[in-house]
Amino acid sequence: MDNRSHQNIELVDGSCIAVIGGGPSGSFFSYFALEFASRFDLEIDIDIYEAKNFSKIGAGGCNHCGGIISESLVQKLSTAGIVIPSEIIQRGIDSYTMHAEQGAAIIKTPSNEQRIAAVFRGGGPKGCLDTSQRSFDNFLLGLCEEKGARIIAEKISQMERQEDGILVKSKRLGDKKYDLVVGAVGLNKKTLDLFGSLCPRFKAPKITRTYISEFFFEKTTVDKYFNDSMHVFLLNIPNVTFGALIPKENYVTLVLLGKDIDKEVVANFISAEQVKGCFPKNLKLIDATPCKCYPFINVKGAIEPFDDRLVLVGDSASSKLYKNGIGAAYITGRAAAKTVIFEGISKKNFDEWYRPVCQDIDRDNTVGKFIFLITRIIQKSDFLKKGILHMVAQEQKKESRKRLMSSALWDTFTGSANYRDILLQFLHPLLLFNFLQSIIYSNIKRI
Ligand SMILES: Cc1cc2nc3c(=O)[nH]c(=O)nc-3n(C[C@H](O)[C@H](O)[C@H](O)COP(=O)(O)OP(=O)(O)OC[C@H]3O[C@@H](n4cnc5c(N)ncnc54)[C@H](O)[C@@H]3O)c2cc1C
Repeated sequence: MDNRSHQNIELVDGSCIAVIGGGPSGSFFSYFALEFASRFDLEIDIDIYEAKNFSKIGAGGCNHCGGIISESLVQKLSTAGIVIPSEIIQRGIDSYTMHAEQGAAIIKTPSNEQRIAAVFRGGGPKGCLDTSQRSFDNFLLGLCEEKGARIIAEKISQMERQEDGILVKSKRLGDKKYDLVVGAVGLNKKTLDLFGSLCPRFKAPKITRTYISEFFFEKTTVDKYFNDSMHVFLLNIPNVTFGALIPKENYVTLVLLGKDIDKEVVANFISAEQVKGCFPKNLKLIDATPCKCYPFINVKGAIEPFDDRLVLVGDSASSKLYKNGIGAAYITGRAAAKTVIFEGISKKNFDEWYRPVCQDIDRDNTVGKFIFLITRIIQKSDFLKKGILHMVAQEQKKESRKRLMSSALWDTFTGSANYRDILLQFLHPLLLFNFLQSIIYSNIKRI
C-alpha cells in the first residue's frame, strides 16, 4: 500500500520548483505559479530547464507547430494581462478558405476582426534569413523571467525521488533538491519515461505522426496568393483528417494531421489540384520546402499525470485533439499552478483539483473524435461537400448571427470552442434544415 498518497504536502516560503521543459505549458505553469504565489504572499523559486534555444533558426529552436494562437487563447491571455507583441505575430488571420474537390468557400471571422495570430515558436524555419528573433516560446519564457523564474539551458536526463523532495541532476547546477518537479516536456519519450520511473502509475499520452513543412516566398507573394486567410482542405485523401496552409509573413506553413502521416500521404496531398491551385503556377511543391518534419501529436491523454511532489502539464498530460494545443497547455499549466499554490503538492491534492481539468479535456476529445468521424464521412461524400460549400457561400452574404454552419465550421477549424459546444452548434435544428435544403439545391441544380 502506498502511504504517500494520503499525505498533505504544501509549499512554504523558500520552496523550490523545477520545471522541466520551457515550451508553452512550462511557461504558463511558471508564470501563474509566480503570479498566484505573490498574491498569496508566498516566496518560491522556480528553475525552468529547457533543452532547446528558441533563438536558433531551424530544428534546434523549433517546437514543431503550425503556430496558430486561437481566438480563445488570445482572449484568455489578454484577460491575464498578457498581450502578444505585434512583432511576434507573423500574420493576423481574418478568414478561412475551405477547399473541396467541388469548389471553395471563404468563411470570414464572425466579428470581422483579426483575432487569430500566426507565430513561429522558435527563431524561424531552416534557411530563414530574418534574424529579428520573433519567437513565441521565447516571448513566454521572457515573461516568466520577468516574474523571477530562472531559465537554465540544459536537457535533464536524471532525477531521483528522495523522502522530502526530488533530486534533479544537472550539469550546470549540480544535484539540486526540489520540493516539486513539473514535467512540461511535450511528447519527448525519453523524458516521459524518466517521469514514469518516478511516478509508477503514470502512463504517457498516446501519439500519432503528423507532418509540417514551410514554403519560403517573398512577402508580396504570400500577400497575393494567401493574404490573411488560412486554407483548409476537405479532400478525400486517406489518412488526412485535417490539412491546412497557414500564411506567415514570408512563409506558408503546411500542416497535415491524421493517422500515421508518412511520405506517401504527403505526396498525395500536395499533388491534389486544390492544394497546387493555392500556390504560384509551375511551383514544384515537393522541392520547395527546405524545412520539414514528421512530429508526433497527442491523441489520447496520459493516465495519472501526477504523484506526490510531481505533476505533468501540457502535451505530457492532456491536450485538445488536433487543435489549439497551446490553449490546452495554458489550461493545464494554469490549473496545475493553482493547485500547487492554493491546495498543495501531494498526489491527493492533484487528484482532487488537477485531475478533473485533464478529465474534462479528455472527455471533450471523445466528442471531438465523433466530430472528426463525421468530417471523414463528409470528406468522402460529393453531395455533402456540395451542400456545405453552397450553404457557407449563402450564409456569408447574411449578417454574422445568421451564419450557423459558418460559425460551427469556424470553431472547428480554429479550435476556439470546446467540442461539446461545436457539436451542439452542428445539431441546431435550423442549421440541419438549411443544410438539407442546400444539399438538395446544390445537387439538383447541377443534374
Ligand atoms: C504538426 C503540428 C501542428 C500543430 N499546430 C498547432 C497550432 O497551430 N496551434 C496550437 O495551439 N497547437 C498546435 N499544435 C500542438 C502544440 O504544438 C502543442 O500542443 C504544444 O506545443 C504543447 O506545448 P508543451 O509546452 O506541452 O510542449 P512542447 O511545446 O513540446 O514543449 C516541451 C519542451 O520541453 C523541452 N524538453 C523536453 N525534454 C526535456 C528535458 N529532458 N530537459 C529539458 N527540456 C526538455 C523541449 O525542448 C520543449 O521545448 C501542433 C502540433 C503538431 C504536431
